[in-house]
Amino acid sequence: GRSYDVTIEAGCVLDGFARNADAYLRSYRPATAGAPRAVPFVADTNSHALFRDAVEESLDSAGLEARWFVVAPGEGAKSWAVLEQVTDWLLGLGISRSDHVFALGGGVVGDLTGFACAIAKRGCGFVQLPTTLLAQVDSSVGGKTAINTSAGKNLIGAFHQPSAVLIDPLVLDTLPDREMRAGHAEVLKYGLLGDAEFFAWLEANGSRVLAREADPLAYAIATSIAAKARIVAEDERETSGTRALLNLGHTFGHALEAETGFGDRLLHGEAVALGMVLAARYSEHRGELSASDAERVTRAVDRAGLPSELAALNLDCDGDKLCAHMHHDKKMEGSTLPFVLLRAIGGAYLARDVDLADLAAFLDRQM
Ligand code: NAD
Ligand code: ZN
Repeated sequence: GRSYDVTIEAGCVLDGFARNADAYLRSYRPATAGAPRAVPFVADTNSHALFRDAVEESLDSAGLEARWFVVAPGEGAKSWAVLEQVTDWLLGLGISRSDHVFALGGGVVGDLTGFACAIAKRGCGFVQLPTTLLAQVDSSVGGKTAINTSAGKNLIGAFHQPSAVLIDPLVLDTLPDREMRAGHAEVLKYGLLGDAEFFAWLEANGSRVLAREADPLAYAIATSIAAKARIVAEDERETSGTRALLNLGHTFGHALEAETGFGDRLLHGEAVALGMVLAARYSEHRGELSASDAERVTRAVDRAGLPSELAALNLDCDGDKLCAHMHHDKKMEGSTLPFVLLRAIGGAYLARDVDLADLAAFLDRQM
């Protein structure tokens, strides 16, 4: 596919946005004298309240004006109804294919805006301005866009790459600690799936990342994005199996999210963290990962303040029920369930021979 720029720089959104986004703002400068066309932003009420002033000030000094579409926070915004409102709004603004729409918010805003831009005028440009750690290290890069329907999460969507991603680590200062930890789970994932050195670095420096220390945070974001970009470039549309490695911890995690109702009880990143521990322990059970490496995974997750014990969730279900949730996952391939397991820290692989009865019995022993 197409390549695009990812900028990771403190202040790139909060300070001097118009300068940093200049290439994507040009179509809003009128060719002839007159009132400037407004620049469309999609945000949720939180990102709008927090960052609107900084963005507008910068646009103003560049002679530009913002127009906002603000959604309620949460997964509810990834719906047909809101998608229709956003696309109608964009068409009403007279958006053309060479224009760019700016997505300022977490993964919800990014997924919704990206999908709206994939279908408005058969595809207009968009720029990701991710404001959660999860969005900065994961959802803003890779080009997957989607909404949720009654059949499940992210089942309707499109591959549509952003023109650019501007990552400002300073916006994370206001992110609640729990959301920060949830994003950190995806950071740990990149180390665990393919980069033992990064995983070891996180074991030593993870607490500094969580405390939002500038240098460790920027390094963790950059290393995560580079890992994701490398994998996505190899397998943009998830056909060869390489991109599936990004699902480490996610098949277990999805089952836990489904069982706990995709809500506040277990955030996505928390479910993925526990899912990675289960993937490590199941790999150990299959004789593929050493007990000491499985223990390292558990400890790293635990020390990041993320859930590492299935028993502690007190789920009112058994291994069979969790496996049934996995069956409903969109990653099901016929009657086999591809599973990302570990041969080593930094050595994930796609197993296609997982016996669901054995897996259910394993999960029962963890509960
Ligand atoms: P989110 O967008 O719901 O944001 C989490 C919360 O943080 C929200 O309440 C939001 O308003 C608030 N928030 C955002 N930025 C803030 C800030 N700087 N300070 C304070 N509060 C802030 O959730 P998320 O975790 O960013 O994203 C989850 C979504 O991402 C899911 O819908 C998931 O399906 C999607 N996702 C997509 C991909 C992909 O490849 N497209 C990958 C992973 C996840
Ligand atoms: Zn995830």
